[in-house]
Amino acid sequence: MNRNLYDLLGLVAAICFIMALKGLSSPKSARRGNIIGAVGATLGTVLVFWAPGSSHKHLPLILGAIAFGVLVGVPAARRIQMTQMPQLVALFNGVGGGAAALVSTVEYLKLGNGATTAEILATVFTVVVGCISFSGSIITFLKLQELMTTRPVVFPGGRFVIAATLAGVVGTAGWVINSGGTSPLLIMGGLSLAFGVLFVLPVGGADVPIVISLLNAFTGLTVAASGYVLQATLLIVAGTLVGASGTILTRLMAAAMGRSLFGTLFGAFTAKPQESSGAAEVRPVKSGSADDVAILLNYAQRVVIVPGFGLAVAQAQHTVRELADLLSAKGIEVAYGIHPVAGRMPGHMNVLLAEANVPYEQLVEMEEVNPTFPQTDVVLVVGANDVVNPAAKTTPGCPIYGMPILDVAQAGNVIFLKRSMRPGFAGIENELLYDAKTTLLFGDAKESLTKVVSALKAL
Ligand code: NDP
Repeated sequence: MNRNLYDLLGLVAAICFIMALKGLSSPKSARRGNIIGAVGATLGTVLVFWAPGSSHKHLPLILGAIAFGVLVGVPAARRIQMTQMPQLVALFNGVGGGAAALVSTVEYLKLGNGATTAEILATVFTVVVGCISFSGSIITFLKLQELMTTRPVVFPGGRFVIAATLAGVVGTAGWVINSGGTSPLLIMGGLSLAFGVLFVLPVGGADVPIVISLLNAFTGLTVAASGYVLQATLLIVAGTLVGASGTILTRLMAAAMGRSLFGTLFGAFTAKPQESSGAAEVRPVKSGSADDVAILLNYAQRVVIVPGFGLAVAQAQHTVRELADLLSAKGIEVAYGIHPVAGRMPGHMNVLLAEANVPYEQLVEMEEVNPTFPQTDVVLVVGANDVVNPAAKTTPGCPIYGMPILDVAQAGNVIFLKRSMRPGFAGIENELLYDAKTTLLFGDAKESLTKVVSALKAL
């Protein structure tokens, strides 16, 4: 293909990426943004085959790899539940970082002694950050999928092991830059993989989304650097966009959770160890029936519904809306208290409730709803836990300490709809469950809400 036409189409793909980001910034235009981004990515991929001077030596292998990716990726993305989206993103992101590291390594080995200093520096950066992003993302995937503990994993001398591993990465990077060669590059890659694991293990479940976003930004920068090694402008543009937007998202998420990035990443090392009481202490709680809950709601003047991850698991958004409509029809003021990190991804609850056509004006953000809790008769907590856990304010050193919460304890009555006494994602007890003003209605949120709706209709 003619160089000018190739560059022009590359520019079109880059513009698609920028327009995609713009579209993704609002729920209304997100679908369009997604499609524009997919068009840009397809154009960028197809374009590679017509790059001036490219040989089609390994065409069957490349097409085979693309077919394999499509066969694995499409069913995985189709089948995945909305609640599992963050771990899918973590996995895809990690694979992206790992792929960039591998491609740069191969390119570097091909260049041999002919590699310029700039190419060597770009390769070192890509391999180090790509490997950290790969192994770190795998750990975030395991945590989100609850295939390993969601609590911070710390061990004696952990910070020294991390510091030594980091020193090893920096030392071997210097070795590669000075003398080149395959062995130093492979050792550097291995140490970077180890650093990625050690870097994410101490992060508690509640902070994992921030780390995913940070690793996503890392992957973007890796891709941009590999674009430099491969002389591919489009990769540089796309990688820089991911790096920049990922960094902004990381900062926004850290702010939403009242965290500094440093505190998120290294908080587990400075936190006091949590006392483990061995066998779980059994304490009494006040559990009620659907009829009890219906009566409490029926005589309230103001009710705030607090949705959380369990609402998404139970797919109870339509039933919760039915309940809210019923209460409104009885003249009861109803609002939904939305925490920015309720669920498993930013904006999760807004998307879920929008699906059930909950009126937008009933969704009240945390800062606005918090001052209204003292005037609220009943708070109905539907499958939420960490986002209402007072330990975030009262227990220094606990994994969610400092995270702003919905202050539901200020309301007259609190009803929790959950299946058991299991803790939320951060893995810590919620004292509010034992409070005198709290009633627990055990069971799947959708089933419980259906029973409450029937009981309310019968009153
Ligand atoms: P939590 O994970 O703290 O609590 C969820 C609650 O839902 C649990 O108490 C669980 O109890 C209950 N539950 C689960 N399934 C059902 C069901 N079918 N029916 C009824 N109840 C159910 O959720 P929150 O929304 O309060 O907090 C979100 C947490 O996730 C925070 O720690 C946040 O930091 C983290 N996070 C947030 C992300 C984001 O960007 N939004 C991304 C990743 C993590 P039981 O098992 O007893 O039913």
